[in-house]
Amino acid sequence: MVLKQCILTRNDCYTKGTKMTGGKPTGIVVHSTGANNPNLKRYVQPLPTDKDYNTIMADLGDNIYDNDWNKSYKAGEINRQVCVHAFIGKNAAGNIETYQTLPFNICCWGVGGGAKGSYNNNPRARVQFEICEDGLTDKTYFDAVFKEAIEFCAYLCKVYNLPVSSISSHAESYKAGYGSNHGDCDHWLKKFGKDMDWFRAEVKALLTAEQTNTATTKKLYRVQVGAYAVKKNADGMANRLKNAGFNTYMVKSGTLYKVQVGAYSVKANATNMLNTLKKAGFSGYVTTSTGTAVAISSLKSVDEIAREVINGKWGNGSARKKKLTAAGYDYATIQKRVNELC
Ligand SMILES: [Zn+2]
Repeated sequence: MVLKQCILTRNDCYTKGTKMTGGKPTGIVVHSTGANNPNLKRYVQPLPTDKDYNTIMADLGDNIYDNDWNKSYKAGEINRQVCVHAFIGKNAAGNIETYQTLPFNICCWGVGGGAKGSYNNNPRARVQFEICEDGLTDKTYFDAVFKEAIEFCAYLCKVYNLPVSSISSHAESYKAGYGSNHGDCDHWLKKFGKDMDWFRAEVKALLTAEQTNTATTKKLYRVQVGAYAVKKNADGMANRLKNAGFNTYMVKSGTLYKVQVGAYSVKANATNMLNTLKKAGFSGYVTTSTGTAVAISSLKSVDEIAREVINGKWGNGSARKKKLTAAGYDYATIQKRVNELC
């Protein structure tokens, strides 16, 4: 799973921000969009004020039709009151990714209302996501997006301690009385001989495999890309890894913030990841040591900082170098961009 974030802060659903009862979802609703457009940029675009604007736009590409969902219905920018927690589809390079578009603990506007109520609302609010449909005949795309959706659901089940039985499609939610009369995504599954029972069984299998792994594996091999006494420096490395497309995480062990990638029960898989990282210009080594999880703070984009440097915010010469490094930025990368822009 590749989970990224572009919160649709302009959508009225986000600004309303109804907190879910108990601060967490009671289940998951799986949708598919019902339109032949597999590209995430159709629905997901950041506002120019988003701190990750450049990164997200570089990843997703520009929606030239300007009909994405990061819009306000009240302000007349979109003709539907609709918003979900995430989308799965293609980025600009054609890779399958998941974009979180709402905090998972606020009620979304997805499934509509049914005979008994709605999974949009408390006390039955569920986390809901859309899979971007294509023409529904491409098996490769089908396999890839549903694999991503299954992994995403397993992740959500783990984080929010949800039973697999609390996953329903939009069509099933309607049948249960908690959604409007739609056929997604069962109509798509059916085309490839699958159904939601298959989907749930796949999620269950993933969760079981993970539990067995944690129970039986004493050692996990991780690739450590850096260990820093200063958190900002660790954030800097973690951000560079993220920007290069790696799933990274940070742990604290003793006085050091360690930036690691992957956790493999088979050492060869960690070695493969190390080689991939090396090809991308990073260095590291395989370790079995870990620590307590620490959240990674996102830094500003290279372009943003380069502009700040040009505007004199970071001083000159060695002082600039010292300040940038202390704030977690890679001096050489920033300076290169400054030279390009000047
Ligand atoms: Zn739906």
